[in-house]
Amino acid sequence: MKYNKIKNYVAGQFVDATSTKTIPVISPVNGQLLSEITCSTHADLDAAVAAAKAAFPAWSKTPIKERVQVFFKYKTLLEKHLQELSELCSEENGKIYSESVAEIEKCIELTEFATSLPQLVTGEVLEVSRGVECRTEKVALGVVASIVPFNFPSMVPNWTIPNAIALGNCMIMKPSEKVPLSCGRIAQLLKEAGLPDGVFNVVHGDTDIVEAICDHPDIEAVSFVGSTKVAKIVYQRATKNLKRCLALGGAKNHLMVLPDAIPAMTAQNVAASMSGCAGQRCMAASAMVAVGNVDHIIEKICEEAKKIVPGKNLGAVINKAAQQRIEQFITEAEQQGAKVLVDGRNTIVAGKEGGTYVGPTVIDFVTPNMNIAKEEVFGPVIGITRANTLDEALAIENANPYGNAASVFTQNGGAARYIIDRASAGMIGVNVGVPVPREPFSFGGWNESKFGVGDITGKSSIEFWTKLKKSTIKWNAEAGVNWMS
Ligand code: NAD
Repeated sequence: MKYNKIKNYVAGQFVDATSTKTIPVISPVNGQLLSEITCSTHADLDAAVAAAKAAFPAWSKTPIKERVQVFFKYKTLLEKHLQELSELCSEENGKIYSESVAEIEKCIELTEFATSLPQLVTGEVLEVSRGVECRTEKVALGVVASIVPFNFPSMVPNWTIPNAIALGNCMIMKPSEKVPLSCGRIAQLLKEAGLPDGVFNVVHGDTDIVEAICDHPDIEAVSFVGSTKVAKIVYQRATKNLKRCLALGGAKNHLMVLPDAIPAMTAQNVAASMSGCAGQRCMAASAMVAVGNVDHIIEKICEEAKKIVPGKNLGAVINKAAQQRIEQFITEAEQQGAKVLVDGRNTIVAGKEGGTYVGPTVIDFVTPNMNIAKEEVFGPVIGITRANTLDEALAIENANPYGNAASVFTQNGGAARYIIDRASAGMIGVNVGVPVPREPFSFGGWNESKFGVGDITGKSSIEFWTKLKKSTIKWNAEAGVNWMS
């Protein structure tokens, strides 16, 4: 085992979880055993929540201008440790180094946004009657939880950490059991940045501890990012327990390519979108709708896909089960009549034989009834469906139950606007393959890609992490003002 056993982080200390269940942490890059987690018991969660609850009064009463000073320092520490954090991210997740660097750079951008929160959370005040004023303040919720997936070991935790904590909340983080290492380093860096003990805590585990978080009476709000199946479970369970919940789920993002699209740029964008992070992004393009004759662009997409070399500029998928699942989607589509133009099955990377790789895969003549067209594949695979008109393309896009992203590739502004207005997705790209809004804009999908109100990052997250206090104030008793008194 390369690293020591992973511990929970409670009240500023690394402590052992106490259940008898352990889960190995295996690097997808080469199959090496990196470490193991011990799952947390309910008592372990209680201890973390108690620490967060104890820290809350002082932290929430610290002025926000002071609270964000921690995040100025944290940002500097992320910059200082960029290489080390990126290497750890690649090791546990399997993505290539440059993708991990981009991930940590995104953490820096997310933190930078949090440092601007004092400018964004000022309340309102108005003299509503002579001598009487109403004012609003955004105040912290209390102890909040963040449950995260495997595909971004640092970025998704940092979607929630800087904003929730800068706004005065104390947090319980539940990392993915598949990639638990990065969160330990995040905890250390937050402490080094000056975050008081107990404000940020980490509990490891899987299903049981997630359920316990949803049930815990002292947790006010739960944010979740992961598959739609689990997002539904978490949203239903947390809200049944009367908690505030925002649960982001899976995706099936459609790229609509029109005949007037710029061929080279479109092909590069499509190939990068479907293969970046080995297709394990909730913003990855996994379905392309070819509108009319775009054979010349499909040819170029195949050329681009063939330039992508597993192990060099394409990372591993998370584990053997994912590899087999992805290959099964490809085989099934082929058996049902789709044509595999570029085939990434049976990929073995020399020197990394224990790694779990799938090469870039382009499949044409996918029909809407095939599983590959309906389900989230979460691998470096794109299925192309043919459509004759924009409306046909939109009908295909609209029929999918998810709604994270949709993109259109065209030089025609009218066609692009038509798609923007009618695509059923929260994040739209025009000539952009991965339309992730950057700060201060918010990240969040629609339909089965997100349950709950608001978005998880940017300005929209402020509403989720705070509640509004409304005060009506009168000091001039002599003024004869009896309004509402
Ligand atoms: P997952 O749903 O399997 O796991 C997410 C978290 O839930 C983990 O911490 C895991 O321990 C926990 N969990 C797993 N099964 C559970 C259960 N039955 N009950 C309670 N908790 C459970 O997701 P994953 O495989 O880690 O991540 C990939 C998925 O996340 C993809 O579907 C991807 O699209 C999605 N994702 C979505 C977004 C978004 O912004 N919408 C971002 C990143 C990832």
